[in-house]
Amino acid sequence: MRASDGGAAAPPFRCANCGRQQPLSFGGGPCPVCGGVLDLAALPRFDPAQVDQRAHGVWRYRHTFPLPPEAAPVTLGEGGTPLVAAEVGGRTVHFKLEYLQPTGSFKDRGMAVTFTALRAAGIPASIEDSSGNAGAAFAGYAARAGIRARVFVPAAAAGPKRAQIAAFGAEVVAVDGPRSAAAEAALAAVRDGAHYGSHIYNPTGLAGNATAAYELWEQLGHAPGLIVLPVGHGTLLLGLQRGFKALASAGLIERLPRLVGVQALACAPLWAVQRYGREGLALAREGATAAEGIRVVRPVRGDAVLAALRESGGTLVAVDEPEIVAGQNALARLGFYVETTSAVVWPALTGLGAEAPDGEVVVMLTGSGLKNKAA
Ligand SMILES: [Zn+2]
Repeated sequence: MRASDGGAAAPPFRCANCGRQQPLSFGGGPCPVCGGVLDLAALPRFDPAQVDQRAHGVWRYRHTFPLPPEAAPVTLGEGGTPLVAAEVGGRTVHFKLEYLQPTGSFKDRGMAVTFTALRAAGIPASIEDSSGNAGAAFAGYAARAGIRARVFVPAAAAGPKRAQIAAFGAEVVAVDGPRSAAAEAALAAVRDGAHYGSHIYNPTGLAGNATAAYELWEQLGHAPGLIVLPVGHGTLLLGLQRGFKALASAGLIERLPRLVGVQALACAPLWAVQRYGREGLALAREGATAAEGIRVVRPVRGDAVLAALRESGGTLVAVDEPEIVAGQNALARLGFYVETTSAVVWPALTGLGAEAPDGEVVVMLTGSGLKNKAA
């Protein structure tokens, strides 16, 4: 064992439900004991001296990933996205351009790490369910890794996203009904023996998403005060939380940024729990929304997302449909061409009002406008 591995062979994954640990060789999917969701067993360990200055993007932070040391990266050049400042309502806002990634969304960060792990584990084929962006990233990285991919998508998912998944050579399975029907179809295939490489269940993706926090810290020279981002399953929010906690535990930042998660009012289960308590979950509907990428009525890591928000001193905001469309136009007029899902951040941002957070405001722009259906 190398010194950089900490000298201990502690299993890197732990079930959030039953606590059972799983080794590095675990391929992904739900806990084989109880069906719960696996999480990273420990925070990533960030060491600035181990940041690889010659590597690009997420691979600068390879020392933080739960990967076999000998595993060759499955990479398309993900991460390393620009941070661009713009004036919004008299306030300087820093936009993190996550949509400028190889497959057009933030999902590439986690998927690069996940597929590096899957290839190292010798997985020949895997499945995913997605409303689009995760499916595109999954199919793209599967192509890069030489792993066969099958992706379950809602039949109503945006045309360009489905075309992108198919172009990468993945088998596309269109499932009638809402987003949750695609998830159920994928879980049924897993029960029939398919390998589930899901971005939702696979905790290696969280380690990849944490690199967005390391990049923000390097780009600003410190942690921002507040970060606004869309929340569906919350995998980017959890990645940011883990990343900033890793920076804090390395003594590099003094406090965590406040996280402001945004949901579409038509499908806002986490916002409902924050507002009404546990009974709020029964009120949440899987309503139609232009923000299809966060149309998630049963977020698999919901408790972890709520805990992360509380820990950061942050909150959830729900925004309605006209605000989302107006937000997409407003962002485009600043030069940011993002999909409607990403645009939920705009009404949340302008809704901060005169509140002056201590430190910079960062907005995560998660997916490309090129993925929207043509009007
Ligand atoms: Zn379990």
